[in-house]
Amino acid sequence: QKAEWAKLVNEPTISVDGKQVELVANIGTPKDITGVIQNGGEGVGLYRTEFLYMGRDQLPTEDEQFEAYKAVLEGLSGKPVVVRTLDIGGDKELPYLNLPKEMNPFLGHRAIRLCLEEQEIFRTQLRALLRASSFGNLKIMFPMIATLGEFRQAKAILEEEKQELLKNGVSVSDHIEVGIMVEIPSTAVMADTFAKEVDFFSIGTNDLIQYTMAADRMNEQVSYLYQPYNPAILRLVKMVVDAAHKEGKWAGMCGEMAGDEVAIPLLLGLGLDEFSMSATSILKARSLITKLSQSEMESLAVSVLAMDTNDAVKAAVEDAVAKFN
Ligand code: PEP
Ligand code: MG
Repeated sequence: QKAEWAKLVNEPTISVDGKQVELVANIGTPKDITGVIQNGGEGVGLYRTEFLYMGRDQLPTEDEQFEAYKAVLEGLSGKPVVVRTLDIGGDKELPYLNLPKEMNPFLGHRAIRLCLEEQEIFRTQLRALLRASSFGNLKIMFPMIATLGEFRQAKAILEEEKQELLKNGVSVSDHIEVGIMVEIPSTAVMADTFAKEVDFFSIGTNDLIQYTMAADRMNEQVSYLYQPYNPAILRLVKMVVDAAHKEGKWAGMCGEMAGDEVAIPLLLGLGLDEFSMSATSILKARSLITKLSQSEMESLAVSVLAMDTNDAVKAAVEDAVAKFN
């Protein structure tokens, strides 16, 4: 099996009936790039920049960040790199910011909410990203967007920083796509409206499932509610993908679900364009997708959307996929 996968390193990912999708990697530091290339990643679908800020006692400088972003963009030699702006809060803490303790950190002052208020932190990161943009194919993604207002404000700040850099003679790419993570149910429901303004969506199922099922992703006692195949989740995914396509945009997924063998056939059927997962899952996913028919997975997806439980969907997928192996 490993030998079969190895042959797929430099291959595209195309279903038996000709539908091509993009398989990219989630990374946390520039060191992860080697693994992405070795495992046949077609780019980076989620660069979690939090790690730059963690395990130290002060904020990283603009230049430190610039060097890290540049290293990733150059390391991927022109392949797409989706960088997520700072997503601190919830399970990820930064002791040196001295943020007040919250009753419900996952519902609290985190990610884009914090960045829009602590604007110097946000603007420093955006300047570092903009300066790095001319070294590769950068896409910028905002986390935890709940309203269109937040997206517009974040994008306006990005635009201000860009104009300021250009005024000072700094070169900035003019093809930077700007998108959002869809990890809050309000945003999935309003995807048709967002799709008119964003360049892309990336569905963050780790949080989207947590918020849709109202089940803390860190709490073992409610972990049975982490139900990626629950039709409630699948219907939200469908809304997001359809909304993107209607406006000619692309939709990806960077939560754990994107690399899950049971979910992949459904996501292919729902029309997902980009799957971002840990690098070590890429070849296995490519091998699976190249054996599937997109149109058959589309019919399967339609039928499971009308099913009643996570387990019923899981059984239906396993049954349908068995005949492709
Ligand atoms: C997600 O929520 O699915 C996601 C990819 O982000 P994180 O796991 O970093 O919250
Ligand atoms: Mg998240």
